[in-house]
Amino acid sequence: MTNYTFAPAPVFSLPVEGAEARFPVKRIFCVGRNYHAHAVEMGRPVDKSTMKPFYFIKDASTLIESGATVPYPCGTSNYHFEMELVVAIGAEGFRVKEADAARLIYGYAAGLDMTRRDLQLVARDQGRPWDLGKNFEKSAVCSPLVPMGTLGVLQAGSVALQVNGATKQSSDLSKLIWNIPELLADLSQYYHLQPGDLIYTGTPEGVGAVVTGDLITGQIAQVGEVQLNIGAAE
Ligand code: MN
Repeated sequence: MTNYTFAPAPVFSLPVEGAEARFPVKRIFCVGRNYHAHAVEMGRPVDKSTMKPFYFIKDASTLIESGATVPYPCGTSNYHFEMELVVAIGAEGFRVKEADAARLIYGYAAGLDMTRRDLQLVARDQGRPWDLGKNFEKSAVCSPLVPMGTLGVLQAGSVALQVNGATKQSSDLSKLIWNIPELLADLSQYYHLQPGDLIYTGTPEGVGAVVTGDLITGQIAQVGEVQLNIGAAE
């Protein structure tokens, strides 16, 4: 048995609906600007004919399970929700063809890509990395996973989010600019996708700020619901 100078970090994992075993999370990839109406609201429209998807990464340690209460994060005064379909990878894939992409999918979840929008926009506009805006503690919220089973490769279904019960986001997976097979084919040109990887597939329009005391609820049709309570600042 290996001796360590201190206890190694735990394995970050998610529950799986209908199963006792948990899904160990390896990496968290996030897709930027993958719904036209959101790209427009961010002032950066997308032309699929000339552009490719882009990605950023959140550490696995940013994962937080649905239902948690998180402190209002440090360093921001514009803390935003982004409701997203999460694709969980269950098999290795490198340079995968779109037609073979379903083989990689373990299942799905409903996720929140929580964002320090003020810091993200400063970084974006200065051509700097987005880490301070995106890759911070407890920023990757995720529901229990639903195995792919008979769902197949999701192509349509509502994506919705409410703050304190009031609808803020309402769209459909059919409006993804790059769909699931296209994303898996593209991302696997750059990484050897591995079991345990999660892919947050991007948010539709209607992103906005939350404050201490708010309750976020979000749903993906056929997949499930994610919830987050915003606690006091530390
Ligand atoms: Mn996002």
